[in-house]
Amino acid sequence: MRIDYQLLPESERKMPPSSGENLGFGTRRTNHMFLMNYADGEWRNPRIVPYGPISLMPGAMCLHYGQTLFEGIKAFRHADGEIYTFRPDKNAERSNLSAKILCMPSIPVPLYLEALHRLIDVEREWCPTLPESSLYIRPFMFATQDALGVKPSKEYIFCIMLSPSGPYYPGGFSKAIRLLVTKTFHRAVSGGTGEAKAGGNYAASLRAAEHAYAQNAAQVLYLSADNSQIEEVGSMNHFHVRKDGSFVIPAFTDTILRSITALSVLELGRLGLIKAREESIKIDDFLKDVASGEIIEAGGFGTAAVISPVNEYLLEDGTVIKVGTGEIGAHSRALYELYSAFQTGLQPAPSGWLHKVEHYV
Ligand SMILES: *Cc1c(COP(=O)(O)O)cnc(C)c1O
Repeated sequence: MRIDYQLLPESERKMPPSSGENLGFGTRRTNHMFLMNYADGEWRNPRIVPYGPISLMPGAMCLHYGQTLFEGIKAFRHADGEIYTFRPDKNAERSNLSAKILCMPSIPVPLYLEALHRLIDVEREWCPTLPESSLYIRPFMFATQDALGVKPSKEYIFCIMLSPSGPYYPGGFSKAIRLLVTKTFHRAVSGGTGEAKAGGNYAASLRAAEHAYAQNAAQVLYLSADNSQIEEVGSMNHFHVRKDGSFVIPAFTDTILRSITALSVLELGRLGLIKAREESIKIDDFLKDVASGEIIEAGGFGTAAVISPVNEYLLEDGTVIKVGTGEIGAHSRALYELYSAFQTGLQPAPSGWLHKVEHYV
């Protein structure tokens, strides 16, 4: 499909941030976005247009029944001056899995990647150059049919927007977080939408997160519906490190979102670069092993921060269980450094992980 360009005249474009500027995370926007409409059973009119409001009918089904999905991807500028996206094919595939779960249309992976890369190509100068900065990419899809019956919409918009972002941890990889282990709130049940990056899953997570903040915890650690197994954190997969240095993540089920960061860590394990495995983890065993020092580090995996180290678990009865020395562990730090080196081109990444953004225009 031919992607159409409707670009802003140079004189109406905002200037990209200067290289020393503090960008924060996810707050800035670039000049353009990608849009594509779905109607009559097919995707049509793919185009790059000025970033701005999208008009919707008040009856658009996304506003009523929440048929929406999204992804989060990062692009990095390397020393050769070129821009590379990190495993965007995995996001395209996961977006199609979310679409299937939500009765939304899939997008051919080559079209998804071309849309992404052509938009980044237009916004090249918005990709930050400072170490640990990146261009954060947010593709998303939502139902637009004006209809009030509860059934899958026949019309959709797919959009990609870009956000030049600074380091998730300004001042370095230094802040460990506290997690509230909750048996009161649950994120997903088997047969539900836990495996989809569906908008509604995040609306449903806000109440638990507010409950966590009120107790000085950064997020909750969700358990399975029977409160026996560890599942994940609100927007990150969970991991721990055992005394022998191996990374362990809860085995994927249909109630856990398949984090591309966690899947990549498992791949690094298969490549023999680190020790990593999936395992079902009982919360009682986990807390016992943290308390006894069998488990020496723990944290979350996700695109935004890569690794969020956890230094303590707060239980609902008020008990606090500290992880290791309470400092950020050496294994977490080493993995963060290795992963960042792959992303930024300081070290050759495993084959197929980086996709160079071509010069189209
Ligand atoms: C996005 C997300 C993650 C992290 O996935 P990445 O692909 O690593 O960014 C983990 N859990 C949930 C619930 C998420 O929405």
